[in-house]
Amino acid sequence: VRIKFVKPSFEIDMLGQTGIEKLKHIEKIARLCYKTEDKITDDSYEKLIKHLIKLDHTAMIEHANFAVKFIANRAFTHELVRHRPPSFAQESQRYVGYGDAIEFIIPSWSGIKPFECDGYIVNDDIRLAVNTVADRIWVNSMIGAASDYKQLLDNGWKPEQARDVLPNACKTEIWITTNFREWRHIFKLRDHHTASPQMRELMELLHIRVAGMIPGVFD
Ligand SMILES: Cc1cc2nc3c(=O)[nH]c(=O)nc-3n(C[C@H](O)[C@H](O)[C@H](O)COP(=O)(O)OP(=O)(O)OC[C@H]3O[C@@H](n4cnc5c(N)ncnc54)[C@H](O)[C@@H]3O)c2cc1C
Repeated sequence: VRIKFVKPSFEIDMLGQTGIEKLKHIEKIARLCYKTEDKITDDSYEKLIKHLIKLDHTAMIEHANFAVKFIANRAFTHELVRHRPPSFAQESQRYVGYGDAIEFIIPSWSGIKPFECDGYIVNDDIRLAVNTVADRIWVNSMIGAASDYKQLLDNGWKPEQARDVLPNACKTEIWITTNFREWRHIFKLRDHHTASPQMRELMELLHIRVAGMIPGVFD
C-alpha cells in the first residue's frame, strides 16, 4: 500500500468578491439602520466598519462570508466541526477507500519531512525524513495502521468498516463556509495559545492571510 506523509494546508475561496467589495456590501447593509446610505463614498466603509466592530454591532458583519478548504488531520476537523453556525463538507471515510494512497498529516512538532513509502519497506527516503526515536515510533504506527486497513479491505471489509483502524493523524479534506462574525469567533478560540498545536498551525497563518485580505475586521 502506498503511504504518503504530508504537511497540512488550506486554500481560501472569497466566493466571487474581493475583501473590499464585501466590506462595502456590509457598509450598505449597516447604513440602512441609520438611513445614511447617502454618505457612502469610495472609502467610507473603513470608518463605518471600525464603528460597527467597536460597538459590537456585529450582526452586520454576518452579511459577508468566505470559505476555506483545509487539508488536515481528523483530530483537527473533529475540533472544527464543533462550531455550530458554519456549513461543512468533509471527505467521507465511509465512501472513500484511499485507492491510490493513504495519507497522514505530519505532526507540527515533529521533524519529519514529507515522504512516501510502500508498507514497511525501509528505504533511503525514510532514513532522510525521520530522525528521532519518537518520530520513528509515530511513522511506524501510521504504516502499521495503513497496512492493517488495506488488509481488511483485501479481506472483504468495506471502507466504512476498515476505517475503524485508522488514527487521528489520517489526512482529511473539509470545506467550511461561514460569515465574518463566526470567523472572528473561530480565530479568537483557534488562533490562541490554548488551542491544540495542529489547530494553531493552520489558524494562525489563515488569520494573518484573511486579515490582510479583509482589513479592519480580523485585526
Ligand atoms: C482550547 C479549547 C479546548 C476545548 N476542549 C474541549 C473539551 O475538552 N471537550 C469538549 O467537549 N469541547 C471542547 N472544546 C470545544 C468547545 O467547548 C466548543 O464546543 C467549541 O469551541 C465551539 O465554540 P462555541 O460553542 O463558543 O462556538 P460556536 O458553536 O462556533 O458558536 C458561536 C457562538 O454562538 C453562540 N451559540 C451557538 N450555539 C448556541 C447555543 N446552542 N446556545 C447559546 N448560544 C449558542 C455562542 O455565543 C457561541 O460562542 C474546546 C475548545 C477549545 C477552544
